[in-house]
Amino acid sequence: MGNGPDELTELTKVALAGGFLNREEGIFLYREAPLPALMQTAHQIRMSLHPEREVTWLIDRNVNITNVCVSACQFCNYFRGINHPEAYVTTMEEYRRKIDQMWALGGRQLLLQGGLHPKLGLAFYTGLFRDLKTAYPELKLHALGPAEVVHLARMDGLSYTEVLTALREAGLDSLPGAGAEILSDRVRQAISKNKCSAGEWLEVMRAAHKLDILTSATMMFGHIESLEERFDHLLALRQLQSAKPAGHTGFISFIPWPFQDKDTFLSRHRNVRNSVTAAEYIRWIAISRIMLPNIPNIQASWLTVGKQTAQLCLYAGANDFGSVMLEENVVSVAGASHQFDIPGIQQAIREAGFRPVRRDQRFEHLADIEQQSGGL
Ligand code: SF4
Repeated sequence: MGNGPDELTELTKVALAGGFLNREEGIFLYREAPLPALMQTAHQIRMSLHPEREVTWLIDRNVNITNVCVSACQFCNYFRGINHPEAYVTTMEEYRRKIDQMWALGGRQLLLQGGLHPKLGLAFYTGLFRDLKTAYPELKLHALGPAEVVHLARMDGLSYTEVLTALREAGLDSLPGAGAEILSDRVRQAISKNKCSAGEWLEVMRAAHKLDILTSATMMFGHIESLEERFDHLLALRQLQSAKPAGHTGFISFIPWPFQDKDTFLSRHRNVRNSVTAAEYIRWIAISRIMLPNIPNIQASWLTVGKQTAQLCLYAGANDFGSVMLEENVVSVAGASHQFDIPGIQQAIREAGFRPVRRDQRFEHLADIEQQSGGL
């Protein structure tokens, strides 16, 4: 294709009509469109998908099942070897304490993640999920991720479908899109070579979509990837979403965040720093909204980019503010220090000109927490 304002206008028209831009078209728009124009296009698409001036948010709690991990990703400060003095596996008593705290604040969902523990197989996780659901029948488990599913399938000699089916029978409600980083094997070999490949990540998600397990998609960018690899990531997600069985949700949301570099192996030994400016993050949210018309919700990661940048993202295609995270380990130990409490997240959404609406993992709206609790 040629270059120039005519091409920008043409591509914008295709995007506004819900069309799929290819990689070169997306890159052209990303590089050449002025930021306000890109934001406006993305915002128009967002308003056509979600016409109300509402921004969703949720309360959940991130509990790490274990910090023992054989993957040793170079962007992670959090993992420990199995014999390390700080290695742990969370006990049921600790789960109870954390869930009770979350329950008192109105939260009903755990985001359960952890390392790839070399000794904990599928039976451990199904037992854990059953115990949690027995103790808290209303609790929702947004748990594990494709890397853990691949790890468990290998350990137990099972297919991804068998692992996912067993996890769902034990209480899994939805599968986070964690561990996607950049879906390029060149990048993964360089920063997380012991984790699942790009193809394996996508195959687990394909299996989950066939089983109609709700999933999300993520992206961690701003490290060693090229712009082309970022776009290939979006295209792989879009293609997989297009292939999901009719009537199944597939990816309900997409959450891109910039690499948090503090004290990571990548920054200490390879001098790789988070290169994403606020303007670039907003631009990336906008192009994600434009490139992914078949994924309904885009989340601004306030935890990693902060309140003001996240508020601007609400005018660049994002319609979700994510969670008041009561606990988060992997990105917080790598430098993400932004925090919201329950009134704070709602206030930030109002300040940006939208009505805050509390949701669950399925994006179903919940009662307003202020009315329910008198303003926690
Ligand atoms: S990011 Fe996850 S998989 Fe990678 S080392 Fe940390 S805990 Fe392990």
